[in-house]
Amino acid sequence: MVPISKAVEVLVVGGGPAGIAAAVAAAREGANTLLVERYGYLGGMVTGAHVVWVLGMGDGFRQIARGIARDIRDRLEPLGAVKKPNACGDYTVDPEVFKWQAIEMLGELGATVLLHTMACDPIVEDGAVRGVFTESKAGRRAIRAKIVIDASADGDVAFRAGCGYDNETHDVSLGANVDGVDKAREKAFAEESPDRFQQIRAEAIRLNGGAMVGRGRHLKNIDVTDPSALTEAETVLRRDLFAALRHLRAHMPGWEKAVIRETLPQLGVRQSRRIHTEYMVTDADLRASRHFDDSVARLGSYLLGYKLYDPNGLDYDVPYRCMVPREIDGLLLAGRCVGSDYLANNTLRLIAPCFATGQAAGIAAALAARQGVAPRNIPVRELQNRLVGQGAYLAAAGQELAPLPSNTAPIEVTDS
Ligand SMILES: Cc1cc2nc3c(=O)[nH]c(=O)nc-3n(C[C@H](O)[C@H](O)[C@H](O)COP(=O)(O)OP(=O)(O)OC[C@H]3O[C@@H](n4cnc5c(N)ncnc54)[C@H](O)[C@@H]3O)c2cc1C
Repeated sequence: MVPISKAVEVLVVGGGPAGIAAAVAAAREGANTLLVERYGYLGGMVTGAHVVWVLGMGDGFRQIARGIARDIRDRLEPLGAVKKPNACGDYTVDPEVFKWQAIEMLGELGATVLLHTMACDPIVEDGAVRGVFTESKAGRRAIRAKIVIDASADGDVAFRAGCGYDNETHDVSLGANVDGVDKAREKAFAEESPDRFQQIRAEAIRLNGGAMVGRGRHLKNIDVTDPSALTEAETVLRRDLFAALRHLRAHMPGWEKAVIRETLPQLGVRQSRRIHTEYMVTDADLRASRHFDDSVARLGSYLLGYKLYDPNGLDYDVPYRCMVPREIDGLLLAGRCVGSDYLANNTLRLIAPCFATGQAAGIAAALAARQGVAPRNIPVRELQNRLVGQGAYLAAAGQELAPLPSNTAPIEVTDS
């Protein structure tokens, strides 16, 4: 028998932007909430891969998203941990302060966080998820829950519960910070011997698979749900990085003492499983600014390739049904793994949309747990009212946006 370590109302799997927002929202609703995270810190890609730009807040002209995305900014700003705000409300965060404050915020709300714990198979009874088995240094444990929110980014719980999904790859990267470069010597050399400088640099870029040392290198066609493929990616990215570094140390003036100060703890993963849900958001929905009766977020961001807010001026809804898996009850999805096609997911995976689906999932789970109904049967109007009560923007009665600026040239932002 696997020991039951805890029984809660809402269990959140994954402590990235979506999982943090889900746990905050559920705890604010008074639900007994537990968040389980496999690593030793919260933040997901924000802290593990230093994805510090909270993008997707606006529509290219002005801010649209509010709710927890704004609450977190309000909390971090007095600590000096928010930089580069733009007209759309996008901002950067200090990843170390984010780690610290995310766990403090949850503690203040009475939510429990369990780090260093991997959520494995779900506990499934009568067609509903009723908790998860976990693995940690303490061994295998069972955590029972009325509702589970899968905010694992890869849809791990839904996958293991047998839900259908699509899995397509997007660029994978390994962030690296370099120290010890004498920039002045490098610059002087570039001016004295521009051809030789370009030759040495070009060879470093070739050795590092198309990116200069310290710049984001993108590896394609990696199935991040396959540990062998992930191992290969980690190995190749690091091997090529050091090959390029050794070349620069040997040939580029100013790089003789250069070192890789750190490679970031997590690979940067952009897409993987997109779970089959009651409604799958399409790229056409976003581009047509489609509205839904079961809207849980009104957003305007759009990301194609690496260019954000193009087209600009969008005004679309995220429907609740894209968080409700088709095949199973007791489970909600939040963040990158929500039901969507590949292109729509490219936008919905941005941090501000992940905060939005997380917040909606947290409130929905609290409502379902309290009312003893399946998430698919909760009163959506009540969910919407609670979301507005928690400060989210739904374009509901009485909620207003800042007027469009008279100079309507869209701002320029690119994803990293
Ligand atoms: C290189 C890169 C650059 C990007 N640039 C930007 C940008 O500039 N701006 C922007 O807004 N977005 C950007 N994005 C996208 C954005 O960072 C992610 O899509 C977003 O963080 C997804 O949030 P999430 O909460 O769904 O997942 P994640 O941030 O991936 O968090 C998931 C969490 O779940 C945990 N977890 C997973 N499985 C389990 C399990 N089985 N048990 C327990 N815990 C588990 C993970 O450890 C992690 O903490 C970028 C992404 C990448 C990779």
